[in-house]
Amino acid sequence: MLKSFKSLSDLRHAFPNEDACVNHFRALRWPEADKIGCSWCGSIAKHYTLKNNTHKCRDCLKKFSVRHGTIFEDSKISLTRWFEAIFLMTSHKKGISSCQLARDIGVTQKSAWFMLHRIRNAAMTKEFNAPLTGTVEMDEAYVGANPRWQHANKRKPLYS
Ligand SMILES: [Zn+2]
Repeated sequence: MLKSFKSLSDLRHAFPNEDACVNHFRALRWPEADKIGCSWCGSIAKHYTLKNNTHKCRDCLKKFSVRHGTIFEDSKISLTRWFEAIFLMTSHKKGISSCQLARDIGVTQKSAWFMLHRIRNAAMTKEFNAPLTGTVEMDEAYVGANPRWQHANKRKPLYS
């Protein structure tokens, strides 16, 4: 659970920008880049890729991004902030308040509350386990042997 990052600055060094986070999350969610699954209808590898990291399904014609169908959907908060929030939540064993989180990652308290709420709720629901596992264990993927992930922050974004 992000244990390999000793501090927030370690995490920020590993994921210096939004593209690094998006690419990393994409690799976790869709390990095979050509087998992107529609998060609306489940069709695999039947999509167009649009701008801004979004896809359109050829079966149901709905649009989705890597965030859709995960706790990160429907929020304007960047994945960078989400990664930081998950890191902080998992590194504060006694919990972290929304005020503290807001100060630490530079979001409003309302956003921080929303994030904590989603992360906590998600951790309790079964459907969420898949994406959360991927996200929370991102350190393991990151420090693993797979060079594709290790260098995610140095690669050019796949879709931009
Ligand atoms: Zn679809």
